[in-house]
Amino acid sequence: MEEIKSLGRTEFTEVELKQRRDLFLRYYANAQAYFSAQNYREAFKEIRHAGEIDPLNMKLAQLAIEIFKRTQNGENLTAICEKMIEIEPDNIDLQLDLALGHFLIGNYPAVIDACTYILTKDLNDSQELTCTELLADALRKKNEFEKAKNYYLKIVERVTGVHRILIKLTGCYYRIGDHKNVVVTAGRLIEMGYNDQNIINLYNFAVEKTEKSIGKLYKPKSFLQSLFRKSYDPAYAHLMNLELEKEHAERRVDTEQRKRYTDTLTGSNNRAFFDERLLSYFTPDTTTQSAGFVFCFFDIDKFKTINDEYGHKMGDAALIEFSKIGKDFFKQDLPDGKKQVETWCRYGGEEFVALYFGDKAAAFKKTEKFRLYIQSTLHIKVQQSQGKPVRIVTCSGGLAEYPAEVKDFTEAHQLADKRLYYAKNHGRNQIVKDGDGWTTSLPAENK
Ligand code: GH3
Ligand code: MG
Ligand code: MG
Repeated sequence: MEEIKSLGRTEFTEVELKQRRDLFLRYYANAQAYFSAQNYREAFKEIRHAGEIDPLNMKLAQLAIEIFKRTQNGENLTAICEKMIEIEPDNIDLQLDLALGHFLIGNYPAVIDACTYILTKDLNDSQELTCTELLADALRKKNEFEKAKNYYLKIVERVTGVHRILIKLTGCYYRIGDHKNVVVTAGRLIEMGYNDQNIINLYNFAVEKTEKSIGKLYKPKSFLQSLFRKSYDPAYAHLMNLELEKEHAERRVDTEQRKRYTDTLTGSNNRAFFDERLLSYFTPDTTTQSAGFVFCFFDIDKFKTINDEYGHKMGDAALIEFSKIGKDFFKQDLPDGKKQVETWCRYGGEEFVALYFGDKAAAFKKTEKFRLYIQSTLHIKVQQSQGKPVRIVTCSGGLAEYPAEVKDFTEAHQLADKRLYYAKNHGRNQIVKDGDGWTTSLPAENK
């Protein structure tokens, strides 16, 4: 008893620890939900509550960082990144976010130092591009147009069709007085369908300048012109406004798309996400011969009776908890080592799907683990969130392996559905991976 001090105590009993963990997760989930709804104020309140329980939680910090980035809050972004870097000094994404924080508060020398250093590290594509752009932006802010230009060029060489970068590059050429290249970059923007009248004017102006300069001697700029160049230059200011508008528009598209792909009840991906983002996996990839995956189809058992016996609110809570568990279970790195895609989706009422990258034996192991976890914990989670007990909830599943068993999504869906149906007809609470759904018996492990 003595070692437990009443003030600022740091030791908790096992039960208290568990309660705090659950409470933390609840705040965190709320914060995520508010975040998806773009309600950053409320999201931040939940983050603060969660932060009181576990202030150095990295997932929580990352959510806060996203909010500060979206609300362009450089001070808070810098502060939180500095704190988290103490814990994970080698975390490149944190270092990049810190550099962005410096950029937002106008500390450009710090951005230049940080980005130059980060670029010496081993980076993935997206980190390298982000870092290069940030470095170029900071150089441009310091009027180092020549250097900035070279970094923008590096980006343009690697990614085509980024209006934002081309506009910034045009701005640099314009400020350097390189009219020839203004013709090239502004011309490219126009070709790409970016027909802003001011870009067209700038293009025409630069064309005229280059034509005039051919065979003509260099003439010093007029006093007024050089004054214009040094301080306020309307053409340049306009370019930078365009760039800002473009950035905002791109961000808007991002968030709107995210909203369209998110199921409002559970916060996980919805069917639109599956149809628009995941269906393309069911296309034979002749270039990489990438390994296949398993389509996993789940349905909660006798779910209707939960609604009937405990009410819809409990039914909703069960769906939310079911989905949360699924989302965590089916997070997976892609075989090509690239970006992680969340394949867990709410496909219909109490039907969920996921793609498992690997063979069927591995997928079966994974889905069985998931099924057992649902059976043992889902009702406890629902009870914790609703404060009322509920019966044990189970689920059934059907698997179909692509391309080993099926040639496209329609076939995968049909086969997995038949196997799921088989599970439903043979006692539920099981995953079926073999057979055509009618004749083959359940896997030996399930008997
Ligand atoms: P089975 O084991 O055969 O799958 O039985 P079941 O009762 O789960 O199957 P059925 O498809 O007959 O019932 C699905 C129920 O899911 C019907 C519907 O009321 C409920 N449901 C679907 N969407 C929601 C939702 O968003 N919230 C709640 N509370 N219930 C939902
Ligand atoms: Mg159903
Ligand atoms: Mg069902």
